[in-house]
Amino acid sequence: MPDGALPRDAVHAYVDSLAAPERARVGEDVLAGIRAGGYLLTNPFEAVDAGIRRTLAVSGVDVPGGTHVGAFPHRSLHARTHTVEGATLILLDTGLRPLLDRVAATLVAYQLTTAPGQRRAGPNPPPAADRRQRRDEADAAFAAAVLAFLRGEAGEPAETLDTFGFFMARSAERFALGHEYGHLLAGHRHAPPGHDERSARREYEADELAAMLILRGVDDAAEFRWRALAVAGPFLFLAVEQLVNQVRGTADEQHVSPARRTQALRTIFEQAGARGLMHFAEAWVSSLLLREAAIVRRARA
Ligand SMILES: [Zn+2]
Repeated sequence: MPDGALPRDAVHAYVDSLAAPERARVGEDVLAGIRAGGYLLTNPFEAVDAGIRRTLAVSGVDVPGGTHVGAFPHRSLHARTHTVEGATLILLDTGLRPLLDRVAATLVAYQLTTAPGQRRAGPNPPPAADRRQRRDEADAAFAAAVLAFLRGEAGEPAETLDTFGFFMARSAERFALGHEYGHLLAGHRHAPPGHDERSARREYEADELAAMLILRGVDDAAEFRWRALAVAGPFLFLAVEQLVNQVRGTADEQHVSPARRTQALRTIFEQAGARGLMHFAEAWVSSLLLREAAIVRRARA
């Protein structure tokens, strides 16, 4: 079981350890709010964390004691892992859940109303003008979700996050958190990815463990579609990260781009014998990638 609430003294020490550029990105007002709140951070990822720990436990892997998961307003999709005061804090971004929920809800709603052969489209696909309008609405919703994340706003909660979207968004969180566990369990130094080959290799290693956690966590008895939705999570996460980087204009700064990680992920799933699941999974996320340029244009307008 997860260790419960984040220890406040460790959170306090973590906040004090932030360097000036990080403080600036988080915002002094936000940090002041955390201080005023007595360094109490909530953990919206408790259920996701518990799932990962169960999978690790059945795989015979022990999570080091004193490891805590929580949310922190980094404004970065790459989580932070920090060891202070004898505790290891894995901190995902506070905005990650609303961002993934909104994107997944839009993705599922858009696919179900436009893709031929899907549930609600029926034998008579909607006319072209309708499809265009839905596509524009989806682009606008994706752009709004990314902008809300970058501004650090909670944003509107996803209106109709149906079961498909919910499942895909939680799996994306599982991948993001599993990636951090990958670094932790592989004994990588806690640092944001740098620009050398060694650091790149660590990123791929962490992704590999995260992908294995997804596959091991899948119920083999579940219907194919549900297993594919779980595999869609990592692709959703990386597509969203790419979109955020493009809108923010930081896509070229990264040595290990989400596109390269996606490519490596395909190899991992193929080697794990999950090629069929992967193709179905990527189809769920494909409309986000196909619309990327239009979404970025809209968000930056
Ligand atoms: Zn990493």
